[in-house]
Amino acid sequence: MKQKAFASLCVGSAKDTTTTAPHQLPLFATSSFVFDQAQDGIDIFTGQEQGHVYSRYANPTVDSVAQKIADLEGFDLDEPCFGIMTSSGMSAISTLMSGLLQAGDKVLTQGNLYGGTTELLIKVFGKLGIEVIFTDLADLDGVGRHLQADPSIRLIYAETPANPTLACIDLAAIAERAKAHDVLTAVDNTFCTPYLQRPLTYDIDYVIHSTTKYLNGHGNGIAGLIVGKQGAAERKAIWQAMKLLGTNCSPWEAWLVNNGLKTLPLRMDRHSQNAMELAQRLAGHTKVNFVNYCGLPDHPHHEVASWQMSQYGGMLSFEIAGGIADAVAFMDQLKLVTQAPTLGDVDTLVLHPATSSHLNVDAELRTANGITDGLIRLSVGIEDVEDLWADIEGSLG
Ligand SMILES: *Cc1c(COP(=O)(O)O)cnc(C)c1O
Repeated sequence: MKQKAFASLCVGSAKDTTTTAPHQLPLFATSSFVFDQAQDGIDIFTGQEQGHVYSRYANPTVDSVAQKIADLEGFDLDEPCFGIMTSSGMSAISTLMSGLLQAGDKVLTQGNLYGGTTELLIKVFGKLGIEVIFTDLADLDGVGRHLQADPSIRLIYAETPANPTLACIDLAAIAERAKAHDVLTAVDNTFCTPYLQRPLTYDIDYVIHSTTKYLNGHGNGIAGLIVGKQGAAERKAIWQAMKLLGTNCSPWEAWLVNNGLKTLPLRMDRHSQNAMELAQRLAGHTKVNFVNYCGLPDHPHHEVASWQMSQYGGMLSFEIAGGIADAVAFMDQLKLVTQAPTLGDVDTLVLHPATSSHLNVDAELRTANGITDGLIRLSVGIEDVEDLWADIEGSLG
């Protein structure tokens, strides 16, 4: 064949020069995958052969990271797990629910969910004929009564510990009650990561994550993930929802999460140690009304947290004496601690829930769930704890 013209050389793929295997996960920045022969494509599209075709369906970088996290969530199980990475934590939740639910179904959940999840359930799924019932999932008798009374409940959706009061829910007890009524269960495990808590071990059906937080840990990307048991009846429907809603994760975001995963246990150990230390010191401070940290023995759910979690994690909140003005003054004094509306990064972050993460949650629901005007949320980082305390104590005045 004659030498190709200049323009064709430009357009053609760069040659794959791989010789030895790369030490680190390659980043497959490609929208599609090629078929050597038309039959290959037919075999894959008809499901006779496994293969990558289009990155909205699946991508090797994304798949590797999804499987790695699925293996961590399923660490205690005999049965393998599947993982589906998504474009964000929110899309993990919307994809899971789209896969599991249909009009007429109801979701039983708690009032103190991540603010975006509450909004999603009311404003998006509500319009599609999927109703949400908010209840206290820590009240197991109450949960039992709801399940008994309403056969249209299809899913119990829980978050433990919950933002920002660190309220905990007994996952094994919830799973047991749900199974007795043939109801599915899903848990947002973002605050714990599988290093601190593995809901599937307690017979929960599905786990979702905002990998944006601790799993990534470095605050440089947005992504999410759904994990379930390989044999789950709804597995195909969930994957289909991801593919058709187009909530797939970008390979670059997945690749960043993989970097974070390498140090997950080291980071979570330090987050937990620092948070425990700060919680104890804050609890003894005169300008602090109370501290919410499930690692403190006087936290109402300390006992559940103690057997369900291996450590208590890096999130805590506390109420400053006074009101909004005092909370704002404290935050503006901080120098080492940064004001940023996220959590789970290596550096310590502070947030005022009433005017940020929970701004769009109904004021009544907000107050009922302990989000008062003086409440401050800390995502405790992995810095030196004495430097952190100096900054916090100094800013409390
Ligand atoms: C941040 C967060 C989400 C949403 O995740 P995004 O990645 O921001 O879409 C869901 N649940 C919890 C507990 C979160 O902290």
